[in-house]
Amino acid sequence: MHFTDLGLRAEILRSISEQGYDTPTPIQAQAIPVVLAGRDLMAAAQTGTGKTAGFTLPILQLLSSRETGLSLKRFKPRCLVLVPTRELAVQVHDSVRTYGKHLRLKATAIYGGVGMGGQLSALKGGVDIIVATPGRLLDHIEQRSVDLSGIEILVLDEADRMLDMGFIRDIRRIIALLPKQKQSLLFSATFSDEIRGLATGLLNDPVSVEVARRNATADNVAQSVYHVDRDRKRDLLIQLIDEHKWHQVLVFTRTKHGADALSDRLGKAGIKSAALHGNKSQNQRQRALDDFKRLKLNVLVATDIAARGIDIDELPHVVNYELPNVPEDYVHRIGRTGRAGSSGQAVSLVCVDEHRLLRDIERLLKKDIEKKVVAGFEPDPRIKPEPIQKPRGAGGGRDGKASHGARQGQPSRHAPAKPSFGARQGQGGRRNAGSSRGARDY
Ligand code: AMP
Repeated sequence: MHFTDLGLRAEILRSISEQGYDTPTPIQAQAIPVVLAGRDLMAAAQTGTGKTAGFTLPILQLLSSRETGLSLKRFKPRCLVLVPTRELAVQVHDSVRTYGKHLRLKATAIYGGVGMGGQLSALKGGVDIIVATPGRLLDHIEQRSVDLSGIEILVLDEADRMLDMGFIRDIRRIIALLPKQKQSLLFSATFSDEIRGLATGLLNDPVSVEVARRNATADNVAQSVYHVDRDRKRDLLIQLIDEHKWHQVLVFTRTKHGADALSDRLGKAGIKSAALHGNKSQNQRQRALDDFKRLKLNVLVATDIAARGIDIDELPHVVNYELPNVPEDYVHRIGRTGRAGSSGQAVSLVCVDEHRLLRDIERLLKKDIEKKVVAGFEPDPRIKPEPIQKPRGAGGGRDGKASHGARQGQPSRHAPAKPSFGARQGQGGRRNAGSSRGARDY
């Protein structure tokens, strides 16, 4: 199938070919006709599947070909895309701009962590499409700087993440302000009861679309585990980067503090590196990402939440410096490489503390990951496992909530996340910690 078979208008096809795409990904091939037909959609798709274009392209088509009718309506936004993080808001907004380059539609991104001024003037000027994180959108709603009564299409992108981050009440408040008559699209990597509950209330006779989960399709990602002692991970990572001349590596740590410390050490070893996490300002994060994309930085050390939605074509290497507490996060992490057909390499540095986490991940993947030991880095069998340490002043494996609590000088309210299978559901405390408005500080 080609994009030209989907009935998209010439201006959109032109932007697609300018991007160098000719074949729709499976999610695009399935979702685009459904959205174009005006149906509600419930899509199981993760980052890396091409889902963004899967909803952006048909939305651009629908909005550009529909008459707005009343002149008053011109100034009301017509499509709202809700996303969990600032980074994703920027990326989805970029996609809308890229694919809509030859159309006259206007779009803006609304997210926290930056001043309201720029967003206010964009909204005042009139926009067709808003890509927003829930918290900041509510700020605008409270200030009456946005009127959602003209919304024709609603997208909830990465709905599972939004719920994980405690946005459910914010989302419900926003939905209550939208017209009843609208088209709704829900994208989620996983389908918990909570997501299904949200979908039942929101979607009207939806078409369900599912693409193979990343854990089933990561064949183009070569995965390996290096067994190494806890205190020798840094040196092993430096050796691997130097020896294999890795030039663009996304490294995951469990904590913000760990990300900073590792990035410093890599810097001292002469490796150009930056840390990306929730304590960095929006500008710092964007600069780090841009530098990484342009290879001015060779290593980006990131926490799970900060790395969420990082969109880099053909990222060659992902390193799990520490395994994630939640097995599904492993799948998300390695999904940053081997995208859209290119091959990638995912390396995990695993010490004796993490054997159980590794087993949980292998159980989720339903396969064993290849194990390696580098000469000179053989694990010392006398070292005993230690409980996995949480960051100073933080309680959860997720940096956002941790930073919120830490900033307010609160003691941790989380028990250390149990690294068990299905821990995502089991970490109710994470979801309930802090107000939902606080959750937007990720
Ligand atoms: P997403 O899942 O939306 O984050 O997209 C993953 C990556 O795939 C992005 O870097 C897109 O630019 C890229 N992509 C999206 N659609 C296609 C396509 N049809 N062919 C090749 N690459 C694509």
